[in-house]
Amino acid sequence: MKILVINAGSSSLKYQLIDMDTITVAAKGLCERIGIEGSNLQHKNVVAEKEVKIEKPMKNHADAIQMVIDALISKDYGVLSSMDEIGAVGHRVVHGGEQFSDSVVIDASVKKALEMCTPLAPLHNPPNIIGIEACEKIMPNVKQVAVFDTAFHQTIPQEAYMYALPYEYYEKYRIRKYGFHGTSHKYVSQKAAEILGKPLSELKIVTCHLGNGSSITAVDKGISVDTSMGFTPLDGVVMGTRTGMMDPAVVTSLMENEKLDAKAVNDIMNKKSGVLGVSGISSDFRDLIAAADEGNKRAKLALDMFTYSVKKFIGAYAAAMGGIDAVVFTAGVGENNGFIREDIVKGLEFMGIKIDSKKNSTRGEIDISASDASVKTLVIPTNEELMIAIDTKRLVQI
Ligand code: ADP
Repeated sequence: MKILVINAGSSSLKYQLIDMDTITVAAKGLCERIGIEGSNLQHKNVVAEKEVKIEKPMKNHADAIQMVIDALISKDYGVLSSMDEIGAVGHRVVHGGEQFSDSVVIDASVKKALEMCTPLAPLHNPPNIIGIEACEKIMPNVKQVAVFDTAFHQTIPQEAYMYALPYEYYEKYRIRKYGFHGTSHKYVSQKAAEILGKPLSELKIVTCHLGNGSSITAVDKGISVDTSMGFTPLDGVVMGTRTGMMDPAVVTSLMENEKLDAKAVNDIMNKKSGVLGVSGISSDFRDLIAAADEGNKRAKLALDMFTYSVKKFIGAYAAAMGGIDAVVFTAGVGENNGFIREDIVKGLEFMGIKIDSKKNSTRGEIDISASDASVKTLVIPTNEELMIAIDTKRLVQI
């Protein structure tokens, strides 16, 4: 079965066609500037290693999907003989609210529920829904599945997901922790069990998704029991441009001192803070490491704040689960930077976490634990698209 995985943004659309018989990517690409002048499609036939960039106006997401299908069945750079070879479509959807604790086959009632979740993710859910409707229009006979960033975290118990605000705000606005990056945390925790050769049901794992946005999750017996992001992806560890956790009184203090409205302060916390805000240099960890190596103190401070905040969550989640068998590092920073990983786990030897420097300097999927560590430390490249395809296949075959 071949599954088309779609990640639709407001003016972009990423896709992968995954062959589930061989678990390989047959083709992938990106539509940019949908609805804006200069729309283009960048497509790669992975099998034949052929790449093409097609510049053509795309008025909307339906135009974009049509171009993707045309590219997939193209005689020159396509991978399918016809559209009928697409067995199902899996859509990444950011927010499933409290309605969705698993992926779901999309029908009219699901779409209605997705719209109800929109106030929780006003920037992300609408383009996701537009992507779904565009696919329904072009492939009316193909099953569509929604895979949510939030679903994996719906198992978090109430004492961990509630905020200590008056209860009525939870009832009125559903203000609570939801958590994000669920597809990634689920994928790497399953992969960790495979690598360790143990059933997931016997493992306590802390998964660290460290990218531009970062989150840490406590995965107990395969179930998310706590995660560092919250009501929005702003909470938790220090990030590229986001503050992570801080005293909420800072918000009102800033609003008063700088005469800012809610939107302006939100912008500062989401786009101008994090390691970018502290260093004044960049949100890219590679730039910060280079600057810190040259003696820039604020770049070094930003990196230290980042690694310290991740370390604290590892300790907290080991406490939450009453133990820990493995720590997993994934995403841009977690997969690629051994120095940052080393800094994070430094001082955690008392918990049995210890890494082997030589193994830590290699790339790819690897167990980097020292031979005398009682807790395993693993680096596992995330693959959200594959997880979406696996879930999609599981649901359409029921
Ligand atoms: P996103 O959250 O946007 O999906 P990614 O998981 O792709 O992000 O991670 C992007 C981040 O990974 C960037 O901040 C980049 O600096 C960081 N990164 C990539 N390679 C390295 C590296 N070798 N060392 C440190 N950071 C890296």
